[in-house]
Amino acid sequence: MQRHCQHCGAVLVALTFADGKLREQCERCGAVAWRNPTPVGMALIEHEGRLVLIRRLADPLAGYWAPPAGYVETGESVPEAVLREAREETGLEIALDGLLDVYSRADVNVLIVAYRAHVIGGVLAAGDDAIEAGLFAPDEWPQEPPPASGAAIDEWFYGVIRDATAPWRRD
Ligand SMILES: [Zn+2]
Repeated sequence: MQRHCQHCGAVLVALTFADGKLREQCERCGAVAWRNPTPVGMALIEHEGRLVLIRRLADPLAGYWAPPAGYVETGESVPEAVLREAREETGLEIALDGLLDVYSRADVNVLIVAYRAHVIGGVLAAGDDAIEAGLFAPDEWPQEPPPASGAAIDEWFYGVIRDATAPWRRD
């Protein structure tokens, strides 16, 4: 499928650049069609010693328990996206308590910005991309096997969830 230049509409051609990387460039105006990882915001929401998790409706890792997370949209900051995703997926209003970590990997086209947060209102209920929502104490953590799909994003995301939730787990 041919892709077109977002600036002038001409056809993009694939070229190997001097740094050895393959990119698409406009044959008319020379603009490079940069491809960058899409930012995702994630909320580690602590409430009375437990962590809020949702069971994911969509891939990656559909069916797995994970902290609420979603794509940052144009027109909102990363923290604003985290507040919105928490509201949509868990029904909770949250306040952020600072950056937990940033996760990225060269062969995965998203990057995850994870914040600590606490509940300031709302009622916990699964919504939007969540099958279920729950609060988990360290000794009642859901035990889930590593994904068997072999997809880089599944393997990576499983590791991100394990790492980001480590302060609230006992295993
Ligand atoms: Zn162009």
